[in-house]
Amino acid sequence: MFRRTRTATTLCLLAAITLTAAIIAGCADPNIGDRTPLGHDGSAKYVFLFVGDGMGPAQVHATEVYRAAVHNQSHGVKTPDVAPLVLSRLPVHGACTTYSWSSQTTDSAASGTALATGFKTNNGMVSMTPDLTPVATLGELAKARGMKVGIISDVPANHATPAVFYAHQESRGQYHEIAMQIADSCVDLLAGSSLPNNERTLDLEAIAKAEAAGFRYVTNRAELDGCRPGDRVLSITPAMTFVTDRKPEAQTLANLTRKATELLDGPGGFFIMVEAGRIDWTGHANDAKATIDEVQAFDDAVAAAMEFYRKHPTETLIVVTADHETGGMSLASSGKKSLKGIACLADQTRTYGKFNEVFFQAWKVANEHLWSGAADNIPADLKQEVEATFGFLWDDLGEKQVALLEEAYDDSMGAVPDVPGMYGKREAFPVAIGRVVSQRAGIGWTTFGHSPMAVPVRATGACAYRFGGFIDNTQIAHRLAEVMRVELQRK
Ligand SMILES: [Zn+2]
Repeated sequence: MFRRTRTATTLCLLAAITLTAAIIAGCADPNIGDRTPLGHDGSAKYVFLFVGDGMGPAQVHATEVYRAAVHNQSHGVKTPDVAPLVLSRLPVHGACTTYSWSSQTTDSAASGTALATGFKTNNGMVSMTPDLTPVATLGELAKARGMKVGIISDVPANHATPAVFYAHQESRGQYHEIAMQIADSCVDLLAGSSLPNNERTLDLEAIAKAEAAGFRYVTNRAELDGCRPGDRVLSITPAMTFVTDRKPEAQTLANLTRKATELLDGPGGFFIMVEAGRIDWTGHANDAKATIDEVQAFDDAVAAAMEFYRKHPTETLIVVTADHETGGMSLASSGKKSLKGIACLADQTRTYGKFNEVFFQAWKVANEHLWSGAADNIPADLKQEVEATFGFLWDDLGEKQVALLEEAYDDSMGAVPDVPGMYGKREAFPVAIGRVVSQRAGIGWTTFGHSPMAVPVRATGACAYRFGGFIDNTQIAHRLAEVMRVELQRK
């Protein structure tokens, strides 16, 4: 393919492809190219693909019910309501199936490969077909036709979902091999929270290789703000942790999305993929408040793309979807609910994972000599810390919830191995707290893993209508390719 430098030459390319008389006429007169935005003829110059990793319909709806409940509570309103997210207000709604080549329940690598290449593959594989053939990604094809490419995530930049757009590996676990592909990849901007190697430490070798290839390596928000259009950027910001635990100055998906539009805007247009990877992680943890906070942050990024869209409405396409659902989340739970309903989640000030990491692990070590056996009660100081962090009083809990916490406390103190399916291979006591908080909010979970249910698809802008209806995730790749005027490989 060749690099386009002007909109007029873009239209020449389109004329060759579409052979329509009107566009051929446009090629004869360069001015017509300036007057006829790309979005008008079934193509899009600026393409956003948002992937809420693990974001099923329940994750979206829980967030919308929570937003309304918190608002109503502060205004003394008692009737139920829903406060729709930006993504729900996009005009085109559909859903897509997510199964992989190897399983009804996909992982992020296989589903990401479907979104990035149009091919189903085995769980774990990164933009390769099951017979280990690497297949071109939308990022690579966009780059080849002169678009700038941004791949943005709030989890490590070489994790499955970002990787499938720029790398090819047999296994998503080959972190170092994936990271080493960055230097020669299609990306103009790659952003994530980390870049681990196979030993799970920062992959300095891959970073050095990327820098040698011309990447500017930045590690925080201020450094990224200093980057200018034309810079090829590798942004690795470790402070980008869970929203519930994050410091205000930390990088956000919305900031990254806004900065990406500034860095990548140009005559050739761009393809930007934004992944909210932590919706998946909070789903795996069955942490309801943290899930809602991550969905809200994802939606803030969609809102940032909408700011760009409003300036370029006929040339911009925004597609929002997910790779699969995580947690089997539902908005019904048989546990005793809080009088505040789902608004009680506003009183949770940390993920239970962070509570475990910064408080409970140390508390356990300091207090293990006091624990004498499985009949011990939870000490008052631990109860107080739980009440302060998660916003409930022990006296407001139901009998079964107290029993659940007491049992999990003993399992944690006694270092009882995980009962299959009970604690999701995590520390028992914090998981039980998360379960109780979810019950109080009226939220249920069926698994610590992924579920096979169909996920939402939302779209607005140029060619958005093509993303409505009930489709398969591979169709999203095919339709994106068509509107970007690139050709996915076919076997
Ligand atoms: Zn995923």
